[in-house]
Amino acid sequence: MGNAYFITTLGCPKNQADTREMHESLDRTGFVSAVSPDEADFHIINSCAFIQSAREETIATVLDAAKIKRSHKKQKLVLAGCFSQRYEKEVSAELPEVDLSFGTGQYGQAGEIIAGKFGRPAPSPQPSRLSSLESGISISGFSKSSASISAGRSYAPVKISEGCSRSCSFCAIPLFRGDFRQIDEKRILQECEHLSENGVREICLVSQDTNSYGSSPESLLDLMEKISEIEDVRWIRPLYLYPDAKTKKIVEGIASRKLEKVVPYLESPVQHVSDRMLRAMNRAGSFEKFRDLFETARDLIADLEIRTSLLIGFPGESSRDIDEILRFIEVVRPEKLALFQYSPEEGTSGYTLSGRIDDSEAAERINLIRSEHLKILREIQALRTGREYSCMIDDIDASTGEITARRAQDAPEADEVVFLSDAPGVKIGDIIPVQITGFFEYDMHGMPVREAV
Ligand code: SF4
Repeated sequence: MGNAYFITTLGCPKNQADTREMHESLDRTGFVSAVSPDEADFHIINSCAFIQSAREETIATVLDAAKIKRSHKKQKLVLAGCFSQRYEKEVSAELPEVDLSFGTGQYGQAGEIIAGKFGRPAPSPQPSRLSSLESGISISGFSKSSASISAGRSYAPVKISEGCSRSCSFCAIPLFRGDFRQIDEKRILQECEHLSENGVREICLVSQDTNSYGSSPESLLDLMEKISEIEDVRWIRPLYLYPDAKTKKIVEGIASRKLEKVVPYLESPVQHVSDRMLRAMNRAGSFEKFRDLFETARDLIADLEIRTSLLIGFPGESSRDIDEILRFIEVVRPEKLALFQYSPEEGTSGYTLSGRIDDSEAAERINLIRSEHLKILREIQALRTGREYSCMIDDIDASTGEITARRAQDAPEADEVVFLSDAPGVKIGDIIPVQITGFFEYDMHGMPVREAV
């Protein structure tokens, strides 16, 4: 049996961080990374089971991988992560293409688990076909691009905790990711150091519930302050902050401590704004509290942009609840808005609720909110045109010379990018001032105004 592996990653940035953990374990055990699944002896799929569409994507990816496996008789297909954790029995009964599966708690032992089942890899004549973090990974799923999470990339997700102890009535994540567990601060800092030594300039702090990190809001602030001390880390982006009083304190702390490497960006998913729906969803907050949180953030942090998300079509939702959402986006004017259609998840408390909304009705509601938000976005875009922003160079296309950059106000793979036609001498991870010159539908084009800093 050969020892080359390839990991296909589905789902969210948390899965990308988990893939990196698998990568490290596989390398430690003596496996080497391949450049594509076609060249791999072990094709590992890091799966997602968040909602119905994610499950369908996982199954489609397994079936596609099975086709590759048929032309490589000795290749083994391994399914890891959320889907295999949640549907352990179904995987063994209904996906015979999968040779081995393991769940979310075992990423760090991926190498040992695969070696235990198929035998330890023979020592490789060369350490790795490519640098371990530059190959062996592809990302798809919810990501906008298929960029790898390699070292040498400008950004990387770093996980600060695992699981979630809240019980939002629509969410199955705690069922297969378990209760909230914090990752040791020392380990997080070591990972940030290691990534910065490998060229990463932006650290995205990811988890299921970022503001539950530590005993108080000070813990996350302390962590970000320590990451700020790593010289080559230029930007720090805490993602997924639950919209409550703790997040407000974190925002206030970023401003009062002058944490300048923390980007002017707040991702805080409200999921709904009507009191009735928030209580049904078992979520905290209210229209007024969310407005206060976002206004405070904009007041304290210059040029801050907001990403929030809304879950539409939860049982019992009425057109009046949608009117409240429309009023909310008019008042708060979030620059980025993710809209999800509710999908009933077995095992959650929302699953048994009456008053389910017809799929086509929910889709119509989403379209209405999207078109109203798009009008606001057009006004926001008009204000951006001609302005100067600090942008990080994310990608340089060797064949066309096209350069992809990103403002501090945009999260990698989730938000907009800025295309530059000309920026001589820049390299990935540089931060340069860019003037926005125009827009595609969401993305921008721009012009560098000075040299890299
Ligand atoms: S906060 Fe709610 S929606 Fe987010 S992972 Fe936890 S239970 Fe799910």
